[in-house]
Amino acid sequence: LALGLAACSGDGAGSSSSDGAEAAGGSGDGQLVGVAMPTQTSERWIADGNAVKAGLEEAGYDVDLQYGNDDIPTQQQQIDQMINKDVDLLIVASIDGTALTNQLQAAADKDIPVIAYDRLIRDSENVDFYVTFDNENVGVQQATSLLVGLGILNEDGSEGDATGPFNIEVFAGSLDDNNAHFFFKGAMDTLQPYIEDGTIVIKSGQNTIEQAATLRWSQETAQKRMEDILTSTYGGGSEQLDGVLSPFDGISRGIITALQNAGYGTTIADGLPVVTGQDAEIASIKLIADGTQFASIFKDTRKLADQAVVSAGSILSGEEPEANDTESYDNGVKVVPSFLLESDIVYMDNITELLVDSGYWTAEQVESGQ
Ligand code: BGC
Repeated sequence: LALGLAACSGDGAGSSSSDGAEAAGGSGDGQLVGVAMPTQTSERWIADGNAVKAGLEEAGYDVDLQYGNDDIPTQQQQIDQMINKDVDLLIVASIDGTALTNQLQAAADKDIPVIAYDRLIRDSENVDFYVTFDNENVGVQQATSLLVGLGILNEDGSEGDATGPFNIEVFAGSLDDNNAHFFFKGAMDTLQPYIEDGTIVIKSGQNTIEQAATLRWSQETAQKRMEDILTSTYGGGSEQLDGVLSPFDGISRGIITALQNAGYGTTIADGLPVVTGQDAEIASIKLIADGTQFASIFKDTRKLADQAVVSAGSILSGEEPEANDTESYDNGVKVVPSFLLESDIVYMDNITELLVDSGYWTAEQVESGQ
């Protein structure tokens, strides 16, 4: 996958890593940081892992980077091993945010600080810091992009011409991922007034997060659920469906496949419903450029990685890491001090500005989808 390279060698990545090194003092002195990432099935996590590792190494730390293959016991074991190796700090993007209580207790027993990366680790007092994006706002942006796609809003946020009624369906992420709840809440709060006044209708009636959830954010699971809804509610594809709220590009591609197979058209221009997304994955960016997927949310993983390196540097030099939010993320035991980054909505017309000009993807990658 090319994103790893782009994330490590692009201009933006280069400068963010060196910022990290400066902020961390550039003097890691060979301290060891364990970095646990959830999966390599989605390119964002590969980019995250590479960028965190590169930033830490540039700041003088040694790094043990592991991927958990979306398997909870594997990730638990990887973290156990890091603790046995006496890492000086852990950076963890969890698979199941509620399944690491024992690992975090073992870390605390050895005075190993823990930074939750992107996904909050729940049910433990031993989470020292959290670096992430403003996840509720990501959900607001996803719903906003759906409303723009339907013509209810314009890209600048002003009111559009379309009045509906529009039939939509909604998807959520994995319930064991704390972020899924924030995305869904932000999105549903944004859609609620339009549901109340009848502009949009969730025709299947499946409007709770439990009904909309997609275990492990799986593309296949999402495709299957979309097929089932088309069968139960849309005459197998013969009835009007205008849009689908999707929380992640992999899920979006599963939904789009189901819609195309049911005969809704290949692109939005020829009848394919508007589908949202998240992560600016290259396969979806190409679909957006082609007019097949309507939008995605760009979360610059280089910036998140840089923030993790800066926070790790502060903690390892005995300082308080800088937080910009100390109330939003209650993990069930305590409110975890957090640093939140901003995200952007990607539409066909700002792909170049957001993704190519910033060095996240090259124009050739957008062209080829790889
Ligand atoms: C991340 C998203 C990602 C999803 C699936 C979430 O925790 O915040 O960026 O789309 O996991 O990997």
